Amino acid sequence: MKTCDVVVIGAGPGGGSAALHCSRLGMKTMILEADPEVGTPVHCGECLSQLAVDNLDLSLPEEVIALHVKGIRVIFPDSTAKKLTEPGYVLEKHLFERWLCEEACKVGAELHLHHKVTKMERVYDSENKFSNWIIDGKGDYFPIECKAVIDASGVSGVASKILDMGTEVEVIAGFQYEMNEVENDGYLDFYLWPKYSPHGYVWMIPKKEGRANVGLVTTDKKGAVKYLDSFIEDTYLKEKPVANPPWRSDGIKIRPFGGTIPISGPRAVTVGDGLILVGDAAGFTSPLFEGGSHLALWSGREAAQTIRAAIEKDDLSSKALGPYEKAWKSTFPPYHKILKGKTALYNLSDQQMSVMARCLPDELGSMSPLDKTWIGMKILFRKPTLFAKKVISVLLSFGYSRAKYFGW
Ligand SMILES: Cc1cc2nc3c(=O)[nH]c(=O)nc-3n(C[C@H](O)[C@H](O)[C@H](O)COP(=O)(O)OP(=O)(O)OC[C@H]3O[C@@H](n4cnc5c(N)ncnc54)[C@H](O)[C@@H]3O)c2cc1C
Repeated sequence: MKTCDVVVIGAGPGGGSAALHCSRLGMKTMILEADPEVGTPVHCGECLSQLAVDNLDLSLPEEVIALHVKGIRVIFPDSTAKKLTEPGYVLEKHLFERWLCEEACKVGAELHLHHKVTKMERVYDSENKFSNWIIDGKGDYFPIECKAVIDASGVSGVASKILDMGTEVEVIAGFQYEMNEVENDGYLDFYLWPKYSPHGYVWMIPKKEGRANVGLVTTDKKGAVKYLDSFIEDTYLKEKPVANPPWRSDGIKIRPFGGTIPISGPRAVTVGDGLILVGDAAGFTSPLFEGGSHLALWSGREAAQTIRAAIEKDDLSSKALGPYEKAWKSTFPPYHKILKGKTALYNLSDQQMSVMARCLPDELGSMSPLDKTWIGMKILFRKPTLFAKKVISVLLSFGYSRAKYFGW
């Protein structure tokens, strides 16, 4: 039987980061990826903040960057636009994920493509102490014996399902087209425009040479593509050509690409004997704009460090891996506060949303406590009923969606 210290399930940003940091810490690591290649099909708007890159001690090669961007512009139903200036990137996400895996492999990780994990069995010793895993599935390399598993399998949450951990996640659907001839000024445009994306938002995420991801998330999964088509039809994007992304094979009919995103918050259980869940598999996404790559990268590294410390103490019990849960709970922003703000936001009418927006400064990224008091007074003066609509929690959730709070 093949053996290693750590099996990482999935080669997305969470798995790539976990494998890179496990290998850097000297653990023999295998990444098992169900797909025949890393990163495709892309299921992401592809933006990542500079802070996420800095946080992870990464230095991105130019070929994985589709555009250097200045930040996010939030656009409200009456076209009022407010900026959240903080630098970042639009990636060629599949190339980014491949690069991350290559970096992990350079420091010793093994990548096995076309290896789908379907079975996980824990082995305990005669004193009922967790000893190791036997991992099985579809692929030539199985079965594999390992000391620890990092589940980075994304929204499918493979370990939680196989082990019947009793935690479910709710998801939202997101789709996008690749469009061409779309001009940009270096900002990602996020349209809070319920007419075109109920309980979600529409984005225009620009890339070099006029390329752009134009997409949306909405709770109305069945209607998602229709909403996106009407947004394009009714806006400046109407005449712009739609194309297939370059990673799709020639001859395939042009169609949107996307996937689902967990939106019910972190799973109640993110560690078990010999097991840590990271990224989407753990339910880690930023609730307002649903970014998850930063959280996946961070949690991948944290999982690696926790497992390294546990292996040193020869104790991989769920208790010994507990510091991982403690770490993310004390580092990630308060999920429920952001969710409360998001719910309040979607309870506002278009007109209320626009009034609130007009009370905000043009730049949302650098508000002092005094600015915030002044905004509160403006809202109180112009539309006091907005207070009853919990508008302050809406503003808080914007604040918590910045890069420093893992928003992107
Ligand atoms: C439409 C859309 C737009 C988005 N836009 C953004 C954005 O702009 N910025 C952002 O930060 N986030 C965005 N997200 C969210 C982001 O894509 C995810 O949060 C992020 O990719 C999570 O990384 P991960 O490594 O946890 O999981 P994933 O990227 O999903 O990777 C999981 C990997 O595990 C593999 N796998 C699954 N099951 C198995 C198995 N049984 N055995 C082996 N391998 C398996 C999968 O094939 C996959 O490669 C978006 C999501 C969607 C759907």
